[in-house]
Amino acid sequence: MSVMDSILAYNKQFVKNKEYERYETTKFPDKKMVILTCMDTRLLELLPRAMDLNNGDAKIIKNAGAIISDPFGNTMRSIIVALYELQADEVAVIGHYGCGMTGLKSEPIIEKALEQGMDPSSLDDLNYAGVDVEKWLQGFEDVEENVRNSVDIIRRHPFLPANTPVHGLAISPETGELTVVEKAE
Ligand SMILES: [Zn+2]
Repeated sequence: MSVMDSILAYNKQFVKNKEYERYETTKFPDKKMVILTCMDTRLLELLPRAMDLNNGDAKIIKNAGAIISDPFGNTMRSIIVALYELQADEVAVIGHYGCGMTGLKSEPIIEKALEQGMDPSSLDDLNYAGVDVEKWLQGFEDVEENVRNSVDIIRRHPFLPANTPVHGLAISPETGELTVVEKAE
């Protein structure tokens, strides 16, 4: 059975047994917080457990590295929507130690893409279209520095409601311990 087949089989039972009942909540976060964190698998349950976040408590946005690469990109828009339309009033960026985006370089990814059949001319096309593929696929050098950078972009954003606390933290993917990198007053 494929992974998706077993997920679908499990899902039928989940719904049938009404296991969803204990997760019932609304789309508005009870703790009024929007969190940007990393997609790392180790954080899937560890982060909410380590922060005492239950279903309905927070808006959680995830991407590779908790990075905001563009102040007007999708991640920043999600934060703004959470603040204006979904009753969040506080922001936390939570990177983590041992992040896969640390030291990530674009070259190996481009090489693998070419090996797996990407048309080499598409790189020229992207270059011609002004897409900086190298930059797009690049990670960061230091987790805490990346958190500070993301916090900075949010704090300076013209759409950020005045007096919105924006915090920056780093979590251990082993123990769940939080390190405060930037705390709003
Ligand atoms: Zn990560």
